[in-house]
Amino acid sequence: MGESSSGLLGPAEIRALAESLGIRPTKSLGQNFLHDANTIRRIVRTADLVPGETVLEVGPGLGSLTLGLLDGGAYVVAIEIDAALSAALPATVADRTPDGEDWPYRLTVIEADALAIAAAPLLAASPYPPTALVANLPYNVAVPVVLHLWAQLPTLQHGLVLVQAEVADRLAAPPGSRTYGVPSAKAAWFAAVTKAGAVARPVFWPAPNVDSGLVRMVRRPPPDAGRATREQVFALIDAAFAQRRKMLRSALAGWAGSPARAIAVLEAAGVDPTRRGETLTIGEFAAVAAESVRDSQGG
Ligand code: SAM
Repeated sequence: MGESSSGLLGPAEIRALAESLGIRPTKSLGQNFLHDANTIRRIVRTADLVPGETVLEVGPGLGSLTLGLLDGGAYVVAIEIDAALSAALPATVADRTPDGEDWPYRLTVIEADALAIAAAPLLAASPYPPTALVANLPYNVAVPVVLHLWAQLPTLQHGLVLVQAEVADRLAAPPGSRTYGVPSAKAAWFAAVTKAGAVARPVFWPAPNVDSGLVRMVRRPPPDAGRATREQVFALIDAAFAQRRKMLRSALAGWAGSPARAIAVLEAAGVDPTRRGETLTIGEFAAVAAESVRDSQGG
């Protein structure tokens, strides 16, 4: 651990900065700040950024990761919900910019809720649209934030996010595994998702009482859902996992309108109605939703 020569924030700097700003980390906003330069460098390195790439960072907080991203050559669009943190970040970055570097010019801070923000302000914020999502996410809203931003921003091509270890497992789980569920299936709509290493508790201030892990996402084309929208596929996923222990023919009876229609739609989509939702790939969910829409629209 420790302070970096390139202006990254170590334990002493994080505490001093928080104190000078009158910031007390709050649990409700998932405020666990990184104070370990090695971890920050590791995240930036693992993010596989191209120099000059625009990164979307959710929750820059006191700026630990933001400084690492700027040091790595990225343009950064940072969305922070906490007004005090959002207001303080440009000065923190200006203060720590090495001579001759253009960090302040490459940073745009937006005070907003990442769960609700639309694409327009994010696209307008930098010369080039964000192509990477890199963040130490607020753990309590990590999954909805990831799904919202990947849905809003088709420009995102890849990402690396730090989340609770259990959430990392769920996001990256393959069909048929114990942890495969709604987050895994929905994230798979947008991207190939893999785990990218564990992160120890002491690198955060305050240290969280859960383990943490990195998750990598690489965009891929969505599966063929015919005339079904992504929202319709996602509603099917929600229905299938609402009763995950049941066979799909009963779990989807309400969604389909009747048990008989659930069986007919599943069979027409090539999915055995006795399977459980937890075994379906995102491609199979898309095929079932496509068949349901085709059937209800009369072919
Ligand atoms: N990136 C900093 C770091 O690594 O030290 C802080 C990460 S901390 C885990 C999460 C940050 O997200 C906090 O700064 C918090 O205020 C912010 N945050 C929480 N909920 C948010 C939301 N809905 N939209 C945007 N930012 C949010």
